[in-house]
Amino acid sequence: MIVTKDLTHKWFTLFAEKVIQEKEQLSEYDRIIGDGDHGMNMARGAQQLITLWQAVPPVHLSDVFKQAAMKWISGVGGASGPLYGTAFLEMAKAVGAKEELSNDELVTAVKAGFEGIKKRGKSDIGQKTMLDLWAPAVQDLEKDELTMATLQTALTKTNELKATKGRASFLGDRSINEVDPGAASSKLFFEALIEAGEFGGN
Ligand SMILES: [Mg+2]
Repeated sequence: MIVTKDLTHKWFTLFAEKVIQEKEQLSEYDRIIGDGDHGMNMARGAQQLITLWQAVPPVHLSDVFKQAAMKWISGVGGASGPLYGTAFLEMAKAVGAKEELSNDELVTAVKAGFEGIKKRGKSDIGQKTMLDLWAPAVQDLEKDELTMATLQTALTKTNELKATKGRASFLGDRSINEVDPGAASSKLFFEALIEAGEFGGN
């Protein structure tokens, strides 16, 4: 898949819309294993990004990632603000001045986002976090595909994990079979890519 600025703009706009739509559900997940603010926090950044782009649409491909990073870092708060903000910023850096990405370059950018989350959160896969959605998505993208089935399977597997990172880890075994809110919002992020993109299998 070739990734243009327009496709990326559509990707992030769909993501922002989904976050706003799913705000209550995301906060409900967070109420069970966290502090209940994930949907509200994420929706604040999403709304700010939509408002910005209604006034001034992004010009360059890297603007999409950079502007999303700024809104998440300055507007979202909680743990998700810095984590998504870092991911988007690392993606912007990986994109640099390119105005179009090959599939390999998309993979490089998403991997850079994944590594950013890992570093910022001092976390790794298997801890019931966003990373457990991002890792299988990267594996799919490496094959130039991404399917809803992959995302659903990844979320189901993440639900079964015990949280060993973040606030949810305080619950220990009681976090098993609950949904990690960051994994749920990350599923929306990649669903938006599927909808914006043109993958063979979809
Ligand atoms: Mg929270």
